[in-house]
Amino acid sequence: MKIFTQMESDVRGYCRDYPVVFERSKGSEMFTVDGDRFIDFLGGAGALSYGHNNEHIKQAVMEYMQADGVLHGLDLHTKAKREFLTTLRSTILEPRKMDYKAQFTGPTGTNAVEAALKLARKITGRQGIISFTNGYHGMTLGAIAATGNGHHRGGAGVHLGGTTFMPFDGYFGPETNTIAYIERLLEDTSSGIDTPAAMILETVQGEGGVNPASGEWLQGIQALCRKHDILFIVDDIQVGCGRTGTFFSFENMGIDPDMIVLSKSLGGIGLPMALLLMKPEHDQWDIGEHNGTFRGNNLAFIAATTAFKRYWSDDSFTTEIGEKAAILRQHLQWIKADFPELNIEVRGRGMIWGLEIPQKGLAGEVVNEAFKRQLIIENCGTGGTVLKFLGPLTMEKAILEEGLGLLKEAVQAVYQQHFTAAGSNS
Ligand code: PMP
Repeated sequence: MKIFTQMESDVRGYCRDYPVVFERSKGSEMFTVDGDRFIDFLGGAGALSYGHNNEHIKQAVMEYMQADGVLHGLDLHTKAKREFLTTLRSTILEPRKMDYKAQFTGPTGTNAVEAALKLARKITGRQGIISFTNGYHGMTLGAIAATGNGHHRGGAGVHLGGTTFMPFDGYFGPETNTIAYIERLLEDTSSGIDTPAAMILETVQGEGGVNPASGEWLQGIQALCRKHDILFIVDDIQVGCGRTGTFFSFENMGIDPDMIVLSKSLGGIGLPMALLLMKPEHDQWDIGEHNGTFRGNNLAFIAATTAFKRYWSDDSFTTEIGEKAAILRQHLQWIKADFPELNIEVRGRGMIWGLEIPQKGLAGEVVNEAFKRQLIIENCGTGGTVLKFLGPLTMEKAILEEGLGLLKEAVQAVYQQHFTAAGSNS
């Protein structure tokens, strides 16, 4: 254990909450070097929606390597890339009547966000970006400028310009329509808000505390974008690839973004890969203008193609996710009902759910109590008050229920420490 504290930078984060050494992982379970089993509700922060070492995907990846398939190919044409693009079109885009071109960026989400913001600036000739309170888009300078979190912004070390924050859906509570506010600012030529190149948002804010936007609000944002000739970018890095039940998080919500950013679970078994989808008319790059050595990870192409074929050729995965989502939601509602003094709020869509315990520090304590019970779950949002479920979409129902039982025990333990006899409401 010492090697980590001695050698690894203090910047390390998740590992501090779960101080064990993991060796193996399968499906929704992780096993330590000591042989202890953990249930995984963290799911690689959304990168493991098909589960750890998904057997179908892993087999395809192993066969490709066994046959000496091209592993690194810059942006050369490869068979793996051809199959990925063909399957992306036939399995994901065409059935949804979506027409987009694909840009492979560097392999992390923030790389694809940078590309989207740059492209929007190039297309419109404007510099400004509108992003939203509690939004999270990544840690490189363009993306961090569009990220709300003060801790992360503080780490940038330079002035973060070019972005104006607008209130997300529900930011001022359910009574305030933030669309009307944004509309007024965009319409008033003396508001001090210049027309931006683009608006970028998550349909369910992941890192920001699991805040789902309503379809009506998203339509309102898109209408403002269309009216003012602003490009509309959906960052589907965390909640795309099926997290909300459908492949894209905004299906059936009546929006049609100019650009979509995908990463995390796109790479199937946690292989790094990021993708910018843009409407064909927005593909205004010059050759090689936005470059990079690791654009299009061939192994991830194999993994992604296998996942598309296996999970997205028909509606059965969406149905399966819906069934598990109902279990998840029900259990979280029960936890809320069981501990009224905690003032819990439950929010989410599909299989991303947050359980907010507003009293400072308590959600963090639940993370620790859960860990003691061999359940891995993270907290997020302002002040870390929201426990977030991001477990694999392929999680067996029995393991999901087992993990939710452990979560309830963890909440109960924290509740008892703070609200019963000895420690009454500390
Ligand atoms: N956008 C969203 C919505 C994210 O959740 C994340 C990662 N949490 C990113 C962008 C950045 O992705 P990456 O960490 O791979 O750079």
